[in-house]
Amino acid sequence: MRAAIERVEARIEAACQRSGRNRNTVKLVAVSKTFPVETVAKAYAAGLRIFGENRPQELKNKVLALPDDIEWHFIGHLQTNKIKYVAGKAQLIHSVDSMHLAQALSAFAQSRDIKPEVLVQVNTSAEASKHGFGPDEAAERFLEINELPGLQVKGLMTMAPFTDDETSVRAAFRKLRAIQSAILQQAPRALCAELSMGMSGDFEIAIEEGSTIIRVGTALFGSRGR
Ligand SMILES: *Cc1c(COP(=O)(O)O)cnc(C)c1O
Repeated sequence: MRAAIERVEARIEAACQRSGRNRNTVKLVAVSKTFPVETVAKAYAAGLRIFGENRPQELKNKVLALPDDIEWHFIGHLQTNKIKYVAGKAQLIHSVDSMHLAQALSAFAQSRDIKPEVLVQVNTSAEASKHGFGPDEAAERFLEINELPGLQVKGLMTMAPFTDDETSVRAAFRKLRAIQSAILQQAPRALCAELSMGMSGDFEIAIEEGSTIIRVGTALFGSRGR
């Protein structure tokens, strides 16, 4: 575990150096989905404090079983009937991918007097299997979601296409950054500082393209069974 963390850290630092960025401008979310509580406990003992999960029930169980000073992030598709397992538990919900979910989350948050931090997910690769708003509507939807009273919108999230072709991966990350610029041009006072992009296979490219949050599973924990 410690060796894997050190390897990932070295990769992050190298990418930061190449792109003239400070290491502390990139947040590492350790994606612990599908791994048991014991694995997360080991990563915690090795110093990691931010973990990402993509299933509501699994998040709920891990929150109960693990130390209180862990910052949990929710990175998966969220159905409205599972909001109660996630809102108030996850420090950041990366995956607001429909107006229906955004509205339901905001209403739930208001009923509980909480204000969850969220990112708006964009499908930058146009892969049908991926969730998120299309690039052409993303800025407009972001600004609508930004008006909802129950949410604190912090930025954007995307997944690059699953390919070894660096050019199309980089293009997806650039597209997210361009959407951020479009949002800030239309609404200079909007808060859209966070760009959640980059996974085990592509986080260096994401850092070079301005990512502020990388979501890394396999490179830390090994491959997942499912
Ligand atoms: C699983 C997952 C990751 C981590 O992927 P790895 O390739 O294992 O690093 C990142 N982001 C999302 C949204 C995921 O579902």
